[in-house]
Amino acid sequence: MAAGKKVRKNKMMNTETSIYDVIVVGAGLAGLTAAKALHEKDKNYLVLEATERAGGKVRSKISEDSSRYFELGAQFVNKDMTEIVKLIEESGMTLEETHIPEDLVVISEKSREPILFDFKDIPEMLRDITAADSDPQTLASLLDKHVENNRKRQIIKSFVAAETTVNSDYINAEALGNLVSRITTTNNELNYQASGPLSQVIRYLETINEEAIRYHEPVVKVKETENGYILKTKNNTKYHAKSIIFATPPTAAARIEFSSSLADHYDRYLKSYIDGAVIKMTFVYDNPFWREQAIKGKKKPVYGVIYAANEGVNLIDSSITGGENRLTLFIGGDKAKEFFNVPSGVKEFFAKERLIEVFGEEAEMYKDYEISEWSGSRYCGGGYGAMVHYKGEPKANEYLKEPFNNVVFASTELGPQFPQFMEGAIRSGQYAAKRLVEEMQ
Ligand SMILES: Cc1cc2nc3c(=O)[nH]c(=O)nc-3n(C[C@H](O)[C@H](O)[C@H](O)COP(=O)(O)OP(=O)(O)OC[C@H]3O[C@@H](n4cnc5c(N)ncnc54)[C@H](O)[C@@H]3O)c2cc1C
Repeated sequence: MAAGKKVRKNKMMNTETSIYDVIVVGAGLAGLTAAKALHEKDKNYLVLEATERAGGKVRSKISEDSSRYFELGAQFVNKDMTEIVKLIEESGMTLEETHIPEDLVVISEKSREPILFDFKDIPEMLRDITAADSDPQTLASLLDKHVENNRKRQIIKSFVAAETTVNSDYINAEALGNLVSRITTTNNELNYQASGPLSQVIRYLETINEEAIRYHEPVVKVKETENGYILKTKNNTKYHAKSIIFATPPTAAARIEFSSSLADHYDRYLKSYIDGAVIKMTFVYDNPFWREQAIKGKKKPVYGVIYAANEGVNLIDSSITGGENRLTLFIGGDKAKEFFNVPSGVKEFFAKERLIEVFGEEAEMYKDYEISEWSGSRYCGGGYGAMVHYKGEPKANEYLKEPFNNVVFASTELGPQFPQFMEGAIRSGQYAAKRLVEEMQ
C-alpha cells in the first residue's frame, strides 16, 4: 500500500506531510524488490528515484520497429539465480540458452593461443592467495607475488578487470575473497538469457509499486528527527519516514549528506567502496565466423577472447541459441575510464581493431552495433557493482546490510549470494526489507 501524495508549499521548499513507514531510496532491482516485499507486507512506503526511469543498471534498448533489442546493462543469468529467474517468468518471459558449444576455446588475442587454465579455478586461486597473506594488500600485489608466469598473470589481471570492472591494483584482496565466497554456483553465470528485453522485468516491478515511485527525486540529505527521518531531495522537497532503505550503490550513498549519528556509524563502510567502470559494445553479424576458427590446426568454436595486452578488455559470443549471431566486447576498469568523454566513434574504432586483430577483416562486416557506457554514472556507479578498495573495510558489506536506527542498505554489492549480479541486488533488497520489518515490530 502506498500512501497518497500530500504536498504543502513552504517558500522554496515543498514538504510532504505524510509520514511513511519506509522510504526506499533508489529504484534499481534492489530498491524495486525491497518495495515489492513492503507492498506484500502492506506497509506504507514510498520509493524515491534520482533519474527519470527505474531499473538502474538494467536497461534495454528496443529498435523502433521492435524487431531487435540490446541489453545496455545486465543480460545473462543462470538457473542457480532463482530470484531473477522467477521475476523473468512472472513478467511473462522464459529462459533461452546462450550459445555455448561444448568444444569451445577461449583464446588470447594476437597469439590466438587457447587459454588452457580453467576460469572456474580463478575464484579458488584468489581465495587461496588472499588467505595466505593477511596484510591489507591489493590484488595486483598478490598476483605479482604468487603467479610466476608473466603471460598467465597478464591474462588473469585482464580477466579480473573485465569481470569486476576495477583493475586489480585497487582491489582489496581480502574483500574480493569475501565477495567470491558468496558466488557459490558451479554453473557458468552466462548460461541463459531472458527471451525478451529485461526492461519487461523492470516494468513488472514498477507496476506493482506504481503509485509509490517518484522519479527525478535524487536524495541529497538525511536528517534524524525525534521519530524518524527527513529526506531532502535535490528539488528541495522534504519527505518524512520512520525508516529508510538506501537501495543505491554504496558509492552513490556516500555522496548523500547524513546526520551525524548515521555518518558516524556508516561513513567508514560506505567510503570503503570505489566505483567500477565499464563499456559494453555488441556487434550483430550474418555469419558467425568465430565458430569456424582453426586453432592449433583444429577447427574450434571460439567462445571468448581475453586481451592480455589491453587489461580489462574481453570478448564473448553473446548469441542466444538459434537467435542472431552476436559478439559483445566489454571494456572494464582503467581502460574504460580512459575512454570517458571520448567520442563514441573512437570507441567503436578501438573495438573494431580488437576484433580484426583476432578474426581478420570479416569482423568489420557487422550489420548492427550498440554501445553503452556506464563509467562516471553518478547514481548507478560505473561498473557492474562497486568494489572494496585496498584501504577499505573488507567486511563492509556485513555492516551495511544490517539495520541501525531503522536504516539499512541494499544493493548488489551487499547480496548474500551473487554479489555484482542482478541476483545479488534482488536478494539484498529482499533481505533489507525483511530485516527492517522485523526491527520495526
Ligand atoms: C554493462 C553491464 C553489464 C552487466 N551484466 C550483467 C549480467 O549479464 N548479469 C547480471 O546478473 N548482472 C549484470 N550486471 C550487473 C547488474 O546490472 C547489477 O548488479 C544490478 O542491476 C544492480 O542493481 P542495484 O539495484 O544494486 O543497483 P542500480 O541498478 O545501480 O540501482 C540503483 C538505483 O538507485 C538510484 N539512486 C542512486 N543514488 C540515488 C539518490 N541519491 N537518490 C535517489 N535515487 C538514487 C539510481 O538512479 C538507480 O536507479 C551488469 C551491469 C552492467 C553495468
